[in-house]
Amino acid sequence: MDLYSGYINKLIAELSVLPGIGNKSAQRLAFHIINMPKESVKHLADTMVETREKIRYCEKCCTLTDSEICPVCADPGRNSRVIMVVENTRDLTAYERTHRYEGVYHVLHGAINPTLGIGPNEIRLKELLQRLQHDVDEVIIATNSSIEGETTAMYISKLIKPTGIKVTRIASGVPVGGELEYIDEVTLSRALEARVEL
Ligand code: ZN
Repeated sequence: MDLYSGYINKLIAELSVLPGIGNKSAQRLAFHIINMPKESVKHLADTMVETREKIRYCEKCCTLTDSEICPVCADPGRNSRVIMVVENTRDLTAYERTHRYEGVYHVLHGAINPTLGIGPNEIRLKELLQRLQHDVDEVIIATNSSIEGETTAMYISKLIKPTGIKVTRIASGVPVGGELEYIDEVTLSRALEARVEL
């Protein structure tokens, strides 16, 4: 016998697929939603659907954005000859918060992870290499300091080296296994300033 009504069970099941949400959290969220005013629930659901529909990849840097070209790439004040490679849009935002970086970005949407079957073709590397056909002075690799992030950094540096473009890696200061988005702005700025050539 089901403990809850079919609708509640369905909502709990849908919420459980979200990252970090186990069955208990899903139950708590489901009951919270049920107790919310109907209008607020509709607003939340509409926002989710609308965001999912409207968000797209920037045609230049591949970050998630609502326009063809993201605000960073569209800013004429940014130095498009320096490209910082990050794993995801949250990492880009973390660097933007430092207000210390004037170049542009390239968002990979992942890192190479052979155990999960994520190879170079599963992340946005091809797009990065295409960008290097234009005038680029430096590629700063700012992938996470996890095994996957380091593997990706090494792979990219080997690909770029023959082109003669300068390749640098942000300094460690960023804790091992640390995810960029959780690191404070000062540490990120220092890691960027103390980057080393690969
Ligand atoms: Zn962009």
